[in-house]
Amino acid sequence: MTRSEALFEQAKQTIPGGVNSPVRAFNGVGGSPLFIEKADGAYIYDADGKKYIDYVGSWGPMILGHNNPQIRQAVLEAVENGLSFGAPTELEVKMAEKVIEMVPSIEQVRMVSSGTEATMSAIRLARGFTNRDKILKFEGCYHGHADCLLVKAGSGALTLGQPSSPGIPEDFAKHTLTAVYNDLDSVRAIFNEHPEAISCIILEPVAGNMNCIPPVEGFLEGLRAICDEFGALMIIDEVMTGFRVSKSGAQGHYNVKPDLTTLGKVIGGGMPVGAFGGRKDVMQYIAPTGPVYQAGTLSGNPIAMTTGLAQMDALCQPGLYEELTAKTKRIAEGFKAAADKHGIPLSINQVGGMFGFFFTEDTNPITSFDQVTQCNMDHFRHFYHLMLDEGVYLAPSAYEAGFLSMAHGEEELELTLAAADKAFAALKA
Ligand code: PLP
Repeated sequence: MTRSEALFEQAKQTIPGGVNSPVRAFNGVGGSPLFIEKADGAYIYDADGKKYIDYVGSWGPMILGHNNPQIRQAVLEAVENGLSFGAPTELEVKMAEKVIEMVPSIEQVRMVSSGTEATMSAIRLARGFTNRDKILKFEGCYHGHADCLLVKAGSGALTLGQPSSPGIPEDFAKHTLTAVYNDLDSVRAIFNEHPEAISCIILEPVAGNMNCIPPVEGFLEGLRAICDEFGALMIIDEVMTGFRVSKSGAQGHYNVKPDLTTLGKVIGGGMPVGAFGGRKDVMQYIAPTGPVYQAGTLSGNPIAMTTGLAQMDALCQPGLYEELTAKTKRIAEGFKAAADKHGIPLSINQVGGMFGFFFTEDTNPITSFDQVTQCNMDHFRHFYHLMLDEGVYLAPSAYEAGFLSMAHGEEELELTLAAADKAFAALKA
């Protein structure tokens, strides 16, 4: 038994399923999860001392790679001043200014401590502001685990085969309407049925919780137009895509302007952080200026703000996103070339620093949730473990996107593609 396996057995005695977030349990790929001891640059190290090239990046935020020396130094200095004050700080002002500078649609922003808090709060605000109860989301999109958002969700919930969770009263769930991603007609039909009841559309601008599905041309613009027509707010959930797909997120990449944006892990640089922001008139509607209540003891925590600011400053280096995108493209296209070489049907998607690969014979671009669910999950599981054996750590679910970092250098890319070549060959055999 490896030390990771022993720790997993021990963890199961005291932690439900041995993990503090379900997708970590490896249910999507089988086997026992790696317990991680440390991470540095492009690598993570497990409890048995084995090192892996990491394509999870703490589920997105480690854009600069793990344990970045500048960020580490900034955090060490901040810790000298105390860990939490529960009172305003200059750091929060700097953070708000930085977010507003980077994401032009955001005029005011409120910090929270997770992506779930960000989306939950943005939806409460949208409901309060419009005085409407219903929300519209897309099947396969995940926006955290708030009650109204765990309806036909993606990611871990989908991996467990339970996209909607027990424990959410029908009286709550009935206000969440679900449309088909990349299908404007399905959205319009729902709005026609409830023309004055929908407070907002919330969406992932590149869906990253049903693998990696970019928006088809006209989809985001069409949603914007529908929101304007029916008086609903458009919430773009950039918890995953923010500062990853481009410096101004997916909204900058695709040139679409939401009313509200939710941000998460990336602005924390690895610390528990989230944020929501947008139009000033809407943001003024939250307490203490407005009637919609929202609060948090640890919101704007000084250590989290320091980490996030150091990361955001580093992300503003010229050329960073071009390089990140080029590396990610190389991995996605390299996987495809290796699969083709060995006669394994594979499709790929890639936007900025995120990518996805699909074991499918479908030769059309993968743009829908239905196509993702029809992929060959056995192939994915087998490939996953072959890559793990070769020292490459991918997300342990076919419904998750892959992430690169600036610390992935030539050597890591070469090693990964060589591993993929071997894995596809073994899969064919
Ligand atoms: N929104 C999106 C798009 C996400 O990918 C996630 C988490 O992966 C969340 C919201 C929830 O964030 P958190 O896990 O920090 O609560």
